[in-house]
Amino acid sequence: MVAIQENISLKRFNTFGIDAKANYFCEVKSIEDLISLVQSEFFKSHRSLILGSGSNVLFRQDFKGLVVHNSIFGRNIVHQNDESIYLKINSGELWHDAVMHCVQNNWGGIENLSLIPGTMGAAPMQNIGAYGVEVREVIESVDAVELSTGRIKTFSNLECKFGYRESIFKNELREKFFISSVTLTLTKKNHRVTTSYGAIADTLSKMNIAQPTIKNISDAVIKIRTEKLPDFNSLGNAGSFFKNPEITEAHFLELTSNFESVPHYPANQGVKVPAGWLIEQCGWKGKTFGNAGVHDKQALVLVNRGGATGDEIFSLAMKIISSVSEKFSITLTPEVNIF
Ligand SMILES: Cc1cc2nc3c(=O)[nH]c(=O)nc-3n(C[C@H](O)[C@H](O)[C@H](O)COP(=O)(O)OP(=O)(O)OC[C@H]3O[C@@H](n4cnc5c(N)ncnc54)[C@H](O)[C@@H]3O)c2cc1C
Repeated sequence: MVAIQENISLKRFNTFGIDAKANYFCEVKSIEDLISLVQSEFFKSHRSLILGSGSNVLFRQDFKGLVVHNSIFGRNIVHQNDESIYLKINSGELWHDAVMHCVQNNWGGIENLSLIPGTMGAAPMQNIGAYGVEVREVIESVDAVELSTGRIKTFSNLECKFGYRESIFKNELREKFFISSVTLTLTKKNHRVTTSYGAIADTLSKMNIAQPTIKNISDAVIKIRTEKLPDFNSLGNAGSFFKNPEITEAHFLELTSNFESVPHYPANQGVKVPAGWLIEQCGWKGKTFGNAGVHDKQALVLVNRGGATGDEIFSLAMKIISSVSEKFSITLTPEVNIF
């Protein structure tokens, strides 16, 4: 039976380091524990929130309900052939540990996603992505426990309805399922390496590597991320606070007539513009407001400079949204889940 604690600080359970409290808090260590928890009267009569590493959440206030912290560990090989391996990983495993395990075994497909914080279970939630790769490219299926019944449902890749930082779990099925495991399909040979995005090619060339292995790519990504992003253990943050907005071709043309050299890349239905560039153009980079601020190396990252409340971070985010909207007529949307 899962032990339920009362009045617990969430400070060490979110990378922003916000000192919000949960009325109730518990840790689930197995799928059986999870199923018996969700079928209990206590669970049915309280609001709940699933928490992995808390690296994509902002608590604006105390959570009036039950926080369920995911500690369901374990991974196993489902099957393999000469070309591919199918790996089922329980959702409490840390994403980066799984990446390191795959890189060490020369299983390719997720090396570009090295050093992303968080759990395996949250990876499909927003279809994590970095350096030209998204997790949807390697997801075979996702198992999830329905919170209203305790039944396990398997979602195929298509059923997950992945999009840019989106999935069915972030939309129609938000707060309805607990992702319990994720099955990945990875390559054992003839890896498809992606080096064209961001500073990877440049970093590899500085490392004198012409024919990169997946280990070389992982090392390059780790190097770039360590130099560019703040360590949340010393400066609270949740990575990119906003999604990169997609605008129409017409809007983009109008923008380029007013602003020289707008960075951009193709999107599904138009053009994507980096949110960090828009924020920087509005003069926010490195700014501090009370205990909240904008990182001095990456304007897309909001930071807790020490003792910030969730509301301080939130009101800074709102100020940024209005100033970007005023200058560019573009509405930024948070990528972070706000509670
Ligand atoms: C420094 C830094 C860099 C980052 N870089 C990137 C990046 O490059 N690319 C990227 O995509 N993201 C990035 N992120 C964001 C974050 O790491 C990812 O979104 C990660 O997947 C969140 O995992 P988590 O376990 O911390 O989720 P949490 O923050 O605990 O939860 C996030 C959301 O998912 C829900 N959730 C969590 N687990 C489950 C589950 N098992 N079942 C159902 N719902 C669940 C929660 O309820 C919440 O709504 C970064 C964050 C930081 C701090």
